[in-house]
Amino acid sequence: MQPLYSEQQEMLAATVREFAAKELAPRAAEVDEKEQFPWEQFKGLAELGLTGLTVDEAHGGSGGDYRDMMVVQEEVGAACGTTSTVLITHVSLGSQTINQFGTTEQKDRWLPSLATGEKIAAFALTEPQTGSDALGLSTTIVEDGDDYILNGTKLFCTNGGVADVFTIFCNADRSAGYRGISVIVVEKGTPGFTVNPQHGKMGMRGCETAELVFDNCRVPKSNLLGEPGGGYTIALKILDSSRIMIAAQCLGLAKGALEAALSYARQRKAFGSVIGKKQAIQFMLADMAIELDAARLLTFRAASLYDAGLPHSKEAAMAKVYASEASGRIATKALQIHGGVGYFKPSVVERIYRDQRVTEIYEGTSEIQRLVISRDLLGDLPD
Ligand SMILES: Cc1cc2nc3c(=O)[nH]c(=O)nc-3n(C[C@H](O)[C@H](O)[C@H](O)COP(=O)(O)OP(=O)(O)OC[C@H]3O[C@@H](n4cnc5c(N)ncnc54)[C@H](O)[C@@H]3O)c2cc1C
Repeated sequence: MQPLYSEQQEMLAATVREFAAKELAPRAAEVDEKEQFPWEQFKGLAELGLTGLTVDEAHGGSGGDYRDMMVVQEEVGAACGTTSTVLITHVSLGSQTINQFGTTEQKDRWLPSLATGEKIAAFALTEPQTGSDALGLSTTIVEDGDDYILNGTKLFCTNGGVADVFTIFCNADRSAGYRGISVIVVEKGTPGFTVNPQHGKMGMRGCETAELVFDNCRVPKSNLLGEPGGGYTIALKILDSSRIMIAAQCLGLAKGALEAALSYARQRKAFGSVIGKKQAIQFMLADMAIELDAARLLTFRAASLYDAGLPHSKEAAMAKVYASEASGRIATKALQIHGGVGYFKPSVVERIYRDQRVTEIYEGTSEIQRLVISRDLLGDLPD
């Protein structure tokens, strides 16, 4: 049997693990406590070439594939959930939308500075009145000479408070269904574009989540990605691939929780022996390891299909829903193994327990993943 990862991917994992242990894990509690964007950590990832890992080499990236990125996300996620969310949004959502759907001119314009991490990307689909149902977008895009005029509000935009380049999904005609939706790049500082920070998240607290407001915001037509009306298909394709990275992030969160629980079980004593000797604790640890491995295999399959250019929508949804929910069960067990200490800051498991929760919500809730899977299983049904 082949090992899961290539020798090169094992080396990449080791490099990122070393970086994460030195630069990410020691600062993760502060990032969480102060809702602090991880600038230095992002810069460190950039120096390792990871902020453009899956961007084409011709446009300043490293030309890596999604299995490479999966390895990176697992190591980053194990050390700092916030940094991992920042990286996924920058690489797999914002930059990837331009990388896959931009013209050569658009790629030349935006990708090199995104790939080097000099600039940061964000991706804005969700609005106050609609999240799961992307057909209900009400941010409008109207032609006016060589420009488009945008009006509306986006919500929960990760990296929103710090990003330079935003991919904005908007609707030209709600009666046209999915054909009304387009995606356009809006740069920070464009007149009529305001960014309002959203504070108070349960977890992933350093991500600079923001509301974006467009008030007669004029954007050149040359910023439109793909065809007018092509935005819905682009959103689905990008989410299908980026979900694999959320699954990989969950592997990291689960691994962080399992490692913390193992370490605690080896040293915490109760009733005359370390708790790792109690079968109840041993069985929890065994179940955690089983679920983590199962999640990794599902994620690897989805990433491999994507890398091979094969259909992967159902498999990405399976990986995301399983890895996110498994990481929830693993975080819960890790906290239980820590007893009261696990309930207090700055325990690592307390933070992972909170960080993990959103993985069942963003980039499509667990319910939406199950819809994707069941639609694929059932096909078209008669009325
Ligand atoms: C921390 C954080 C960061 C985020 N970052 C981003 C970002 O960078 N960019 C971005 O665009 N969005 C982002 N989001 C938004 C996120 O993707 C949405 O919150 C998510 O897609 C769910 O949408 P909603 O919140 O509007 O919930 P709703 O769509 O209103 O759903 C509410 C509930 O109803 C369920 N539901 C809805 N439709 C169905 C159905 N057909 N069948 C069964 N159940 C259904 C949902 O599963 C959920 O349980 C972020 C959210 C959070 C919390």
